[in-house]
Amino acid sequence: MTFAGFDLAPELRDLRDLMARFVREQIVPAERAAGAEAKELPGGVLGELRAKARAAGLWCLEAPQEYGGGGLGAFEMAVLHEEACKHKFAFPHAGGGVFGHSPPVVLYQGSESLIERFVRPTVEHGWTSFTAIAESDGGTDPARAIRTTAVRKGDSYVLTGRKMWITNADRAHYGVIYARTSAGISAFAVETSSAGFRTRPIPVIRDHWPTEVVLDDVVVPAENLIGDEGAGLSLAAGWLVRGRLGYAARAVGIAAEAIRLATEWAIDRETFGAVLASRQSVQWAIADAQISVNAARWLTWEAAWRHDAGEDARLAAAMAKLFATEMAYKTVDAMMQILGGMGVARELPLEHWLRDLRVARLVEGSSEALRMQVARKVIGPAVSGKKADRPA
Ligand SMILES: Cc1cc2nc3c(=O)[nH]c(=O)nc-3n(C[C@H](O)[C@H](O)[C@H](O)COP(=O)(O)OP(=O)(O)OC[C@H]3O[C@@H](n4cnc5c(N)ncnc54)[C@H](O)[C@@H]3O)c2cc1C
Repeated sequence: MTFAGFDLAPELRDLRDLMARFVREQIVPAERAAGAEAKELPGGVLGELRAKARAAGLWCLEAPQEYGGGGLGAFEMAVLHEEACKHKFAFPHAGGGVFGHSPPVVLYQGSESLIERFVRPTVEHGWTSFTAIAESDGGTDPARAIRTTAVRKGDSYVLTGRKMWITNADRAHYGVIYARTSAGISAFAVETSSAGFRTRPIPVIRDHWPTEVVLDDVVVPAENLIGDEGAGLSLAAGWLVRGRLGYAARAVGIAAEAIRLATEWAIDRETFGAVLASRQSVQWAIADAQISVNAARWLTWEAAWRHDAGEDARLAAAMAKLFATEMAYKTVDAMMQILGGMGVARELPLEHWLRDLRVARLVEGSSEALRMQVARKVIGPAVSGKKADRPA
């Protein structure tokens, strides 16, 4: 028995290099041209780049092949996400949406009709969607906090309530909304054109603002229920590993790019008669950052590899997401210091990344929720405060 090694398969290396080239040659120049004040790629430019990404074979790579996507596994996506995020508007979507959006994976467990109405068009037409779990009473423990209700009336469900902090609900065709039914939390596909559906932007630290979603007796066909009534949170749990690995890999990519930018600067910038790169404090900051990036990458790759191998990778993915997002936040901050005033200037992407990464430490499993998960595994039942029974 032997370890297969850290080398990537030649086809994956080629795809990674293609992605890196596309980001460097297409997305980064488009972001620069959009100007320092831009908060996202202008619509026309986004459309042009999407067409180019499709033509290059970089479209909806994560969605299953049977629905028109690339069908890539978690490990392949971890490698690609890292490269796809070495640019300014990398959150909440790699490439700023240039590479299309994979449908919410819970929909793959929906009926054939839901696949036809939502999944296939998302890949084919590049639709945006949203996922609405959080409410004003709390996002960390949705099983307790969800108050939105879905009541069965004949062939329909009537959804009533408010969702908080929902990304993309103001620009999506549809979303998956988690609501309380008589059997427990259930998931529904809901079109944003439905009567009684409205959104309100919530200004936050990051440029891509989330929304409050108001559901005023929104009527959806009963077939929009995904899976069984009461199965909503277990369906959502199925997405946790891939979602968290996406965050981890993107954080690794951004941190690596921040190091590259700061290193280029340190090699060139002179103070007190010598380049910054000759100062030990600068060298150590860069060295420590590089070691952290490598550590985060191995955690991410290991979790992705375990997931693809069919193992339960929830704990590994929690560790990777926690470590990588916190590491990237610290790394971008440290690299900003080396860049001086340029580090915080909007001309460079670091200040944008710092704001995005601040949010990344809260969403898709907050750092505290992930630490609780790891602690439960390491410490065991004593985390609940009970002293372990010892044999007499
Ligand atoms: C920009 C943005 C975009 C978002 N997009 C979406 C989206 O698209 N869809 C969606 O459903 N949600 C979304 N969210 C919601 C996000 O998932 C929640 O904000 C997150 O889960 C935390 O929930 P909360 O804000 O209600 O904080 P709370 O649950 O009230 O927790 C407050 C703080 O306490 C910590 N905490 C909680 N319990 C414990 C404990 N036992 N011990 C120690 N610390 C604890 C939490 O980690 C957090 O830091 C988004 C949030 C933001 C800010």
